[in-house]
Amino acid sequence: HIRTRFAPSPTGFIHLGNLRSALYPWAFARHNQGDFILRIEDTDLERSTQEAVDVIIEGMAWLGLDLDEGPIYQMQRIDRYRAVVKQMLDAGLAYPCYMSEDELNKLRDQQMVNKEKPRYNGLWRPEPGKTLPAIPEGVLPVIRFKNPIGGSVIWEDAVKGKIEISNDELDDLVIARPDGTPTYNFCVVVDDLDMNITHVIRGDDHVNNTPRQINIMKALDGVPPVYAHLPTVLNDLGEKMSKRNGAMSVRDYQKAGYLPEAILNYLARLGWSHGDAEIFTKEQFVNWFELDSLGRSPAQHNPEKLLWLNHQYIQNADSAALAEATKPFAHELGINTENGPDFVQVVALLKDRANTLIEIAEGAKLFYLPAPAHNAEQIAANIPQEIVPALQDLIEAIKNTEHTKAAYGAAFKEVLAKHQIKMPALAMPVRYALFATTQTPAIDSVLVVLGKDEAVKRLSKVV
Ligand code: GLU
Repeated sequence: HIRTRFAPSPTGFIHLGNLRSALYPWAFARHNQGDFILRIEDTDLERSTQEAVDVIIEGMAWLGLDLDEGPIYQMQRIDRYRAVVKQMLDAGLAYPCYMSEDELNKLRDQQMVNKEKPRYNGLWRPEPGKTLPAIPEGVLPVIRFKNPIGGSVIWEDAVKGKIEISNDELDDLVIARPDGTPTYNFCVVVDDLDMNITHVIRGDDHVNNTPRQINIMKALDGVPPVYAHLPTVLNDLGEKMSKRNGAMSVRDYQKAGYLPEAILNYLARLGWSHGDAEIFTKEQFVNWFELDSLGRSPAQHNPEKLLWLNHQYIQNADSAALAEATKPFAHELGINTENGPDFVQVVALLKDRANTLIEIAEGAKLFYLPAPAHNAEQIAANIPQEIVPALQDLIEAIKNTEHTKAAYGAAFKEVLAKHQIKMPALAMPVRYALFATTQTPAIDSVLVVLGKDEAVKRLSKVV
């Protein structure tokens, strides 16, 4: 039974690349009818914040990444980690090390001078027949894991292929600090085992932790999961994504009027592909998601592509649902969607040309502003005298035709033909009369949305 997890450290900024690390394990679990777990790695008390936890949980809910278990907080499992440390000490799998910070630093300096890799020298590691130094007084020890000596750790990474790390490269990892608190790599191991995680899908910044984690797992008689280390997501300039170089948080995208479906689709393609499919539903993504179609090279964030996708999703969205999603943005702009034309119709009219929900809301403003109050001078300047007869005919034609886009289109054509004029000559004054602007969507559609009576009322004021 497949079980995956997303294990973020809630230490500040959550960008899209972070959420991709949630999306893939979620999709893998769903594809295999497995379980997906959220584990909050909050043991770094100084850097973890509730705000970051909230952003993660809200962001996942927004994208529809549903959980089978969690959120589980590591800080609530401290007793469990301590118990495993004790169990390892009792079983001789770990040992107390009394080497002070000072001694460690000296050792490192010496190793630097000798051009060796800095590593703990095993001074306090018990071995048969070895006499350990006398325990210094008043010093609290760290607890170190007895890493195997000789041999190597090998795993078949689902993304990177076979990886082999010699145990000589790994020293005895500290698993508990002098105050007894467990360390990061150790908690991950205990959790992945306790939670029966079968597939660890995470960023490749953790590749170096993996051999250490596998060794501890094996010492605990655990079966290491399958590892899939995802290449980084770079920003559009090819740099590591971060707040400092302008990455947007999940919340920023929400506020900028992106649809979660578009973000999900976009993130899915950031390092994964299925033939040349660019636009697909969440269900298709889940059906198609396999670890062997994950990309091996870094993915690059492409804001234009995301905007394009958002446009596609907006254009094809159900207008009623889109209207609901747009309402908060409209209200933000001071639009009272209850007072004016049917908001669903307005959204249906605008969605073909909008890239974001904000753009729809901006476009909707036109229909909810009070009718323009043109004075005689403005009318004279914007409505040419010679067009007035045509306008008068148009008003009559609008009154006497059906309230449909096609009928209004035909009314315009009829008047144009009768007066031997071209569309802009008539449409521009109409737009001006209706909205005091010449920038509006197609005028026949506008009449449908604005309503016959309102349109006639506004047009009659300028002739
Ligand atoms: N907490 C780690 C991070 O946020 C991830 C650990 C893991 O997935 O094993 O980068």
